[in-house]
Amino acid sequence: MKSEDCIFCKITRREIPSKIVYENNLNLAFLDIFPISKGHTIVIPKNHYSTLEDIPDNELTELYKVVKKIASMIHEKLQTDGYNILQNNFTAAGQVVKHFHVHIIPRKFDDDKFRVKIPRNQATEADLNNVLKKMEF
Ligand SMILES: [Zn+2]
Repeated sequence: MKSEDCIFCKITRREIPSKIVYENNLNLAFLDIFPISKGHTIVIPKNHYSTLEDIPDNELTELYKVVKKIASMIHEKLQTDGYNILQNNFTAAGQVVKHFHVHIIPRKFDDDKFRVKIPRNQATEADLNNVLKKMEF
């Protein structure tokens, strides 16, 4: 996708209005218009990168400083019990907007939103060894 057509690039260029939580020279944070919970915030780099594999390390570092700053603020100001940091890459993982972004999702005890389910079946030693052999740099 070209950045001219990207909804998050349009938000960065103020061609689409958004509720901006924070902004600096490299990053923009705004409220998700389909919030999972109150205060659900999206943090993006102003430059267009599709996935985690595309964003340069230095920009990723700067972006996660913003994620930390906003998550801490939300935790205190919205008096949440916790928060999830969620970052989807590629369609199979649920990425809808093809502009790298990080979700900050405020959570309350027993809010019934979502949980990562831990499988009941433990992997075998052989399974772990087989997959580990393939995971080489
Ligand atoms: Zn974009």
